[in-house]
Amino acid sequence: MDLKEQMREAGVDFSACYQCGKCTASCPVAFAMDYGPRHIVRFLQLGWWDEALKSRSIWLCAACDTCSTRCPRSVNPAKMMDCLRVQAGNRRIVAEPKVKVFNDTFLHIIRRYGRIHEGELAIRFNLITGQLFKDARLGVAMLRRGKIHGMPRRIRGIGTLRRIFAQTDGRKE
Ligand code: SF4
Ligand code: SF4
Repeated sequence: MDLKEQMREAGVDFSACYQCGKCTASCPVAFAMDYGPRHIVRFLQLGWWDEALKSRSIWLCAACDTCSTRCPRSVNPAKMMDCLRVQAGNRRIVAEPKVKVFNDTFLHIIRRYGRIHEGELAIRFNLITGQLFKDARLGVAMLRRGKIHGMPRRIRGIGTLRRIFAQTDGRKE
């Protein structure tokens, strides 16, 4: 599925935007982005797909949905960010590699156990990003206080969850 088609299916209507800026004004992470959501919408209106796909903003978006809730034109910028992130990942254009590693690792663990396991998430993330001992002392302290579990445990019905993953994987291609 190409990006335009994906956006149409997700209910993103970037052509309806009249650039009021409410999305960027409401975005809790706009301060850290290279372009706020209003800018990204404008890129799409101008057909500047590469600029949007190369932006750091699509990886920094926290998917909080505030922009979509407040948009007076029902453009749905949150879903737009989501579609751009998926397509950028598929095309291996990743402006914030650590965010992608985190997202992929998170999903990998959900696939395995049906729930998150913080210890494994931290270890895998730190290993892949080459910072093995980062937060190690904090992890040990949390383990001692029972704030994180030592061993991951699988949920019942993991087969059902894996079938859901298999179906969404099929759709993504
Ligand atoms: S809030 Fe909606 S209409 Fe206003 S700039 Fe953002 S996307 Fe465009
Ligand atoms: S969904 Fe993303 S772009 Fe929209 S307000 Fe939240 S963090 Fe910002």
